[in-house]
Amino acid sequence: MSTGNFLLNHALRELRLPVFLNEYEAAARQAGHENWNHPQYLEHLAQAEVQARQAKRIQRLLKQAAFPGPKELSDFNFAAVPSLNKSKVLELARTEFAERRENVILLGPPGVGKTHLAIAVGRECCRQGKKVRFHTAAGLVNLCTEAKDERRLLKLEAQVRKSDIVILDELGYLPFDRRGAEHLFQFFSNCYEQVSLVITTNLPFSEWPAVFADDERLTGALLDRLTHKSHILEIDEKEESYRFRMKLKAMESIDRKEVKSANKSS
Ligand code: ADP
Ligand code: MG
Repeated sequence: MSTGNFLLNHALRELRLPVFLNEYEAAARQAGHENWNHPQYLEHLAQAEVQARQAKRIQRLLKQAAFPGPKELSDFNFAAVPSLNKSKVLELARTEFAERRENVILLGPPGVGKTHLAIAVGRECCRQGKKVRFHTAAGLVNLCTEAKDERRLLKLEAQVRKSDIVILDELGYLPFDRRGAEHLFQFFSNCYEQVSLVITTNLPFSEWPAVFADDERLTGALLDRLTHKSHILEIDEKEESYRFRMKLKAMESIDRKEVKSANKSS
């Protein structure tokens, strides 16, 4: 913390420039050693302030997104899911889809990395300054039901529209009753062309009516809106669960160790 100039310190606090305040004395010494001119000195401090502010904003966006875990694309083993269009995933991570308010549907059986990919793309979007919110489909329906009971559904809807991207995870795992289906339908209408949706589901579109209270007409209208501007990424039915495969691998290596130690002791 600088003790140098009382009036300057006061002004920098008023202007909420903490990095400027903390660093201006050290930067002045550096400027002396490296012969910076006045604009260079100011630029150094201003850049440091901007960078700190951006980093803080990204941290805030990542926190507000409420991701269930810190999954990243760098941890994703694309070789394990050859049916997945890798270049499409990398394109999505550049986040232009969100600027165009397009939707993403990740379709495939359980355990193949749909949630991992949705979170990883979501985190990239946060890093590019986008406002993201993660919900499970069941969690979102509960939120809507509660908000409706407490007469604040409009407020919740306005809140949803402030996001750039909403991730809706696990659509299709649990069927909804009539009321739940209507809430989801309302949610999709609310987001239409306002918010990008990233949806993970295990259900092919033909089976969606079963989730939406068996209402073919409502589901048809919903799919129409959802798929109007969307990227559909399908992971093949034949892919085995990644978690399952990892477990098998771990078990095989335990077996091998056991065989080795049994051989040693005999
Ligand atoms: P899904 O949502 O399709 O059911 P998840 O994304 O929850 O699957 O994946 C299950 C677990 O396996 C998670 O811990 C996830 O990080 C991991 N996983 C799945 N596929 C991969 C992959 N290709 N590379 C790395 N980890 C993976
Ligand atoms: Mg999942």
